[in-house]
Amino acid sequence: MKVLDHASARQMLLCCADAIISSKPLLTEVDSRIGDGDHGIGMSVGMEKVKEVLQGMESERNVYDLFRETGKAMLMSMGGASGVIFGTMFMGGTKGGSPAESMDTAAFAEMMREALAAVKLRGKAEVGDKTMVDAFEPAVDAMLAYPGQDFEGMLAAAEEAAAAGVERTKEIPAKFGRAKFLGERSVGCQDAGATSVWLLFQAMRRYAAGQ
Ligand code: ADP
Ligand code: MG
Repeated sequence: MKVLDHASARQMLLCCADAIISSKPLLTEVDSRIGDGDHGIGMSVGMEKVKEVLQGMESERNVYDLFRETGKAMLMSMGGASGVIFGTMFMGGTKGGSPAESMDTAAFAEMMREALAAVKLRGKAEVGDKTMVDAFEPAVDAMLAYPGQDFEGMLAAAEEAAAAGVERTKEIPAKFGRAKFLGERSVGCQDAGATSVWLLFQAMRRYAAGQ
């Protein structure tokens, strides 16, 4: 797949939603170890809303609007810090671009680069703080560095980088969210938000691969 048109973007986002909803137990378990255990519930609530919104957008022409409405649905339905963070992950890169019916890999990577910048501006977390940024930033870097023009390969690189980022969150103490109160005791456990980022890129790669 070299072009992501609005029909495929919509399907890809629906796959993201289903992946998160079916991983609710995993996300709950991961957040229970060092957080308050609500990440799986919050993300699932957000993604149920995303499905509802996307189902009403079948005739949408502007591909950026799908990402914007996905982010908005998460922001509005999830609430809290993670609603803002994950809402921004989807909508943060859609503001500057002019309307387009489709995007190529470079445009997608650029949208995600802007989204990452917006997430970091909003949440003030950097790589090494044990948040979703630990998975999102390496994923974005991998997409920007990807030499090809196929979504499957680019998203596979993002998925792999995000997975490595999740692994690194096990080695560091948390500085944000409720886990920060555990300090060094959070070492050994992976970050829940980083896990969600990995699941999202895995779902996108699977969609692009036609799985
Ligand atoms: P809460 O922390 O309110 O319980 P969730 O459990 O849904 O919310 O989400 C927690 C996740 O949100 C964390 O694992 C982390 O990845 C992410 N997160 C929290 N605060 C920030 C932040 N300031 N910047 C980036 N990500 C953050
Ligand atoms: Mg939580």
